[in-house]
Amino acid sequence: MPTSTFEFQVEARQLLQLMIHSVYSNKDVFLRELVSNASDALDKLRLEKLRDDALDADVSELHIEIDADQDARTLTVRDNGIGMSYDEVGQLIGTIANSGTAKFLQEMKEAQDAAGAEGLIGQFGVGFYSGFMVADEVTVVTRRAGESQGTRWASRGEGTYTLETVDDAPQGTSVTLHLKPADPENQLHDYTSPWKIKEIIKRYSDFITWPIRMVSEPPAAADDSDQAPEPETLNSMKALWARSREEVSDEEYHELYKHIGHDWRDPLETIRLQAEGTFEYQALLFLPAHAPHDLFTRDFQRGVQLYVKRVFIMDDCEALLPPYLRFVKGVVDAADLSLNVSREILQQDRQIERMRRRLTKKVLSTVKELMTKDQDRYATFWREFGTALKEGLVTDSENRETILTVASFASTHHDTEPTTLQQYVERMRDGQDDIYYLTGESRQAIENSPHMEAFRDRGIEVLLLTDPVDEVWVDAVGEFDGKKLRSVAKGEIDLDAKDEDTSDDEREKQTEQYAELLGWMKEQLDGDIKEVRLSSRLTVSPACIVSDAQDLTATLENMYRAMGQEVPHAKRILELNPEHQLVKGLNQAYKEREDRTELAESAELLHSLAVLAEGGQPKDPARFVKLMTDRLERTL
Ligand code: ADP
Repeated sequence: MPTSTFEFQVEARQLLQLMIHSVYSNKDVFLRELVSNASDALDKLRLEKLRDDALDADVSELHIEIDADQDARTLTVRDNGIGMSYDEVGQLIGTIANSGTAKFLQEMKEAQDAAGAEGLIGQFGVGFYSGFMVADEVTVVTRRAGESQGTRWASRGEGTYTLETVDDAPQGTSVTLHLKPADPENQLHDYTSPWKIKEIIKRYSDFITWPIRMVSEPPAAADDSDQAPEPETLNSMKALWARSREEVSDEEYHELYKHIGHDWRDPLETIRLQAEGTFEYQALLFLPAHAPHDLFTRDFQRGVQLYVKRVFIMDDCEALLPPYLRFVKGVVDAADLSLNVSREILQQDRQIERMRRRLTKKVLSTVKELMTKDQDRYATFWREFGTALKEGLVTDSENRETILTVASFASTHHDTEPTTLQQYVERMRDGQDDIYYLTGESRQAIENSPHMEAFRDRGIEVLLLTDPVDEVWVDAVGEFDGKKLRSVAKGEIDLDAKDEDTSDDEREKQTEQYAELLGWMKEQLDGDIKEVRLSSRLTVSPACIVSDAQDLTATLENMYRAMGQEVPHAKRILELNPEHQLVKGLNQAYKEREDRTELAESAELLHSLAVLAEGGQPKDPARFVKLMTDRLERTL
């Protein structure tokens, strides 16, 4: 069978270059990656055999084998798992299908310092290629379980790889690394040393549930004995979640997390749960320390694996936690499920439902604990995952109170430190009944919004909500601790009612003075607004736009439209600042002049300015520019 040569896909080539020239200090992780792939391959074969009894595959002694040859300077990681077909090898190893990898390369380029760039290696699970950190040539011999012919893949990592079919390949995959020349200065990094291999396996892969064996060279003295050397099992294979807390070190937990979570950093928190009784299960969950880059994409892979009595059943098990906790990684091992259980069955199972509720509460109570015990770690958690957790305020009414308790928000009280709702309530001033917030694109946009003026003036704290989900949960939740959540851009805000300086009389007088102007302006702007009224929110700006309490905000309207949903355009309210010179001038002009052509333009401009001030767009930008230019010209 001829050997064919293929080119790596562009991204794959870039990634290989990175690996070959890597200065990543912890090169040991390549072995963890290869063992992890081998372990997955064994899991897959066992499942496939379970589902298809007719599959012509040997599952009697599934294991991983490591073979080091010090003279040839090769290291081989072998498994008798699922293997790959000829086409699969080309697809899986020659290209990078994972969209995350493109992002990885992008971030890698952007990372300024080498350490930051190298750190990204583990985060994206660039598994197999990491072999090229230590080898200048890699060969793979593999045969897909059930097929008769195998495939040999080889590459020096420099742009091309070769493929050929082979007749005598054993079931599964063996990856052979032709190691780079040994560094005489640094014996510590000799990956053919049995001692070194044992150390790495113990450290990174002890929990792997398949035996990892190594055939050690017999000691020199025993050379003349004709006994074949016995393979030695390097890992304990103990499922960490089935062991008691005292038996397991934090480091061991962390390594399991890295294996499951495809992360190179330690988790933020480890959560254990053992349930006994009619439906027994053990859970070992982790809160990561960093949000993955694709947390808000549709095809985000969740990180909770399902096991049944130590047997791996599935990755990405969505039935175990609600979507807003999709960032949680870990293992759930249930005793009383069938090994054949499917995703559909899990979704409908009452016991699973109960387990999911319990796990959810456990995760939330852990966050709550973090909040009281360790402010810094809580702050990290909220910064990374708060946006996801807030989805739960809308979707999980059962845990809404808990989520509200652990949530924190940017606020005008402090430039950088977020506040909890409880802290906000404690700071509320006498006579303040509501919790005020404003939603918008960014902190800066919100702070500069005219709606904030009166609040700033009177020193009333306002929560600054900038996540798209904020638009939704505030309406769904409605109140906290008996205090209504109120948008400063919605409804009538009458802060003066509590102000002793401004009497009701004065207010009434103003309303009377402006009544005609307000009515006339409403007619002029009829297509766009439903009311013109005097404002008590403004101190500096002449006008602003507000919504009725029950209306969608402009941002929410845009969000729905972006999702392709039809929403009626809600007419909004124009509020004028009666103390502003411009508004006073308009009133006077209205009273004095017969011809109102100019005045109508002014009304239109004022409305457009208010729209601009809250980050919106005038309905007809070209007309707005023209009117504005004419006005400026006249001031010259
Ligand atoms: P990842 O493991 O993150 O998917 P890798 O580059 O390590 O990325 O591997 C790419 C794919 O190649 C794997 O998803 C798997 O399908 C296949 N593969 C790698 N190693 C093996 C193996 N030992 N046996 C079977 N398939 C493998």
